[in-house]
Amino acid sequence: MLSITFHWQLSQIPERAVKKHCKMCGKLSVFTDTNVRRHNANGKNIYQYAIYKCEKNHTWNQKLAIYKTFSEHIAEIEEQKEESSIMPAIPIISLAEQGIKVIHIVLDNVIGKHRIDKVLANQIEDWSRSQIIKKIEKGTIQLNEQVIKPSSRLSKRDRISIFID
Ligand SMILES: [Zn+2]
Repeated sequence: MLSITFHWQLSQIPERAVKKHCKMCGKLSVFTDTNVRRHNANGKNIYQYAIYKCEKNHTWNQKLAIYKTFSEHIAEIEEQKEESSIMPAIPIISLAEQGIKVIHIVLDNVIGKHRIDKVLANQIEDWSRSQIIKKIEKGTIQLNEQVIKPSSRLSKRDRISIFID
């Protein structure tokens, strides 16, 4: 079975939160920084966004920077390596398209309290938190080869397995 393994380090980062009107909720909502960063290229420009989510998991992309040239983009990538707290998002749909059936995530280090459903909702853009909760309850997302609760806390050396159906 084709599988892929990611290594994560979860740290206790002070939550960056912004009060902002959420179009989907139709009200003022608290958006929290997921610590996921995304780059979009558009012709000569590369845009860097921080991905924020409201309490209902609606996303808002805050534009952080625009890079105009290729050389500046290289410099920016080097800069981001230093920030170990930033983990890349897991592109479930594109991994599934490549024939990946199982995704393993090994937690090399865990500092602070982290719920499995919340961490996965932050790192997996293709699935909502409620979809992730259903998969944990169904057992297609497991922790150390066990079916666990969505509220389960993560510890150092835990192994998350995500089975793609
Ligand atoms: Zn919302």
